[in-house]
Order: sequence, then C-alpha cells, then structure tokens
Amino acid sequence: MKKGPFDFAGMGDEPPARQEDSFEEFEATELYCPKCGMAVPVRKSLLLILPDGDKYEYRCQHCGGTVGDKIDKNGQFYDLLKT
Ligand SMILES: [Zn+2]
Repeated sequence: MKKGPFDFAGMGDEPPARQEDSFEEFEATELYCPKCGMAVPVRKSLLLILPDGDKYEYRCQHCGGTVGDKIDKNGQFYDLLKT
C-alpha cells in the first residue's frame, strides 16, 4: 500500500536545493581601477540627481579615485516633479 505515484523515497538522495546561492546579492561591486591596475571593490555614491535619473559614482576603496559612474533611471522622483 506504500508504493504509488507519490512515492518520494528516491528523492532522499538528491542534494538540498541550492537556492541559497542565488539569494546572495553582490553589494560590493568590483570595477577596474586604472590607478591601482586591478579590479577593486568600489563604493557607490550618489553624485547628483538628473532629470534622466540619479547619477551615481563608483569610487575605488583603495585610492579613492573615480572608476566609473552610472545613471539609475528612477521614475519616482521624476513623476513627483512632473505633477
Ligand atoms: Zn584605485
């Protein structure tokens, strides 16, 4: 009476789901710093707020030099300003 289509006995051999890996978020971005000559952990800081979005700057945590920037398109502020 124990055997049937819903017999999960074989599943005990399966390793536990590896979902935990995908939950990791990479808060610390690494970018190439020309001054340090290698990929370095960077700090993201808000530089200014543009109509297009918020401009962020990435700074090297070793030498403090700017290694990149990006504009985060964030519609929320924009909507507030428009209305
Ligand atoms: Zn650097």
